[in-house]
Amino acid sequence: MSYQRPKGHRDLFGKELKRVEAMNAAARGFFGQHGYEEIKTPTFEFAALFDRSIGETTDIVEHEIYKFEVNKKLYALKPEGTASVLRAFIENKLSLPARFLYIWNMYRRERPQKGRYREFLQIGIELLGESKPFYDAEIIDQGKRYLELIGAKDYYIELNSIGCPQCRKAYQEKLKTYLEQQLTHLCADCRRRLERNFLRIFDCKKEGCQAIYDKAPKITDNLCGECSEHYKQVKCYLAIFGIEYTENKKLVRGLDYYTRTVFEFKHGELGAQDTIIAGGRYDLLMRELGGPDTPCTGWAMGPERLLLTMPDEVPKLQPRQVYFVVAMGEKYLQKIISIRDGIQAKGHICMLGNPDDPIKQQIKRANKAAAAYTIIYGEDEEKEGVYAVKDMKTGEQKKIPAEKFNSQIPQL
Ligand SMILES: [Zn+2]
Ligand SMILES: [Zn+2]
Repeated sequence: MSYQRPKGHRDLFGKELKRVEAMNAAARGFFGQHGYEEIKTPTFEFAALFDRSIGETTDIVEHEIYKFEVNKKLYALKPEGTASVLRAFIENKLSLPARFLYIWNMYRRERPQKGRYREFLQIGIELLGESKPFYDAEIIDQGKRYLELIGAKDYYIELNSIGCPQCRKAYQEKLKTYLEQQLTHLCADCRRRLERNFLRIFDCKKEGCQAIYDKAPKITDNLCGECSEHYKQVKCYLAIFGIEYTENKKLVRGLDYYTRTVFEFKHGELGAQDTIIAGGRYDLLMRELGGPDTPCTGWAMGPERLLLTMPDEVPKLQPRQVYFVVAMGEKYLQKIISIRDGIQAKGHICMLGNPDDPIKQQIKRANKAAAAYTIIYGEDEEKEGVYAVKDMKTGEQKKIPAEKFNSQIPQL
């Protein structure tokens, strides 16, 4: 008698296991140094958690979750990370703001495809308790810098805003009016989605449907005042961070709980399954799951798919020094990003404070991230042409002439 592994699963050993482990180690190093704490939760949860969070009408909940019953209780293997992180946050009464990193195996009964398994790894980050557009841009920037660190190349970023329930209500009517003429040309799935989960029609892979959606009104052009301002600011911060992206008005993400910003990192070599990072803002989910009203952002990455695009070896992450740049107001943001770039060019990790936050709060974040040095740049420093550099261990602070600063950062 011989045994086989279940279909769509795989055995991981040797070189391939080493590559996966190197990526995980790089994530622990990089995100740990950016103030994210690793979290682990059970491999399975009560199935109701995912019905509530992902949405009962999504493909994932309808077809893909592994469910099993024990003693009349229905459980589900985790199909994704966010709901479980929030459940743990609420249940353990953790405090805000919070940054979590998870590196978990997930389970979905999908048709097995290249780089896609029924048990798959996800690396994800969640930032809970921050509503400002700066943070939407920051997690995109962190995703990009992690990819740079491990040597990933040739990916591109797509961005969209899907607004809030208020914008969607008015928009839904508009879309329905447009589609009423086209109903007979839509596939059965789309007609069903239109009734229960209308934004997701844009996810349809069928060409006939897509041709109709190309001409349909888009949520992005129908945002309420606040959502529109938020989106504008996210784009502004991305420009300051120097991040290139394209706007894709048909990008809506497959999960129900997203609000406002949604984004994907894609890779041209991966064909139809080209997404390597997907995420966005989900301000409504925490309350939906019985927690306090809490704005949240986050993303998840599929390392296995990403590895298909990379050379055999994953570079090892060296131990790095953490620097933190305090932003004394919006007008210095461009300047402190150039300071950060100088520090990063020497191989160190450098975090930025949110210029909207009070200095005290920014220093607190620098401490939490175990920064070795904090650089402060504001009005006084601009006048004097210096950077104020604080040694976080000794508390000693000194002024370094701006033009000498880069040459004083040690090379790693
Ligand atoms: Zn809105
Ligand atoms: Zn369709």
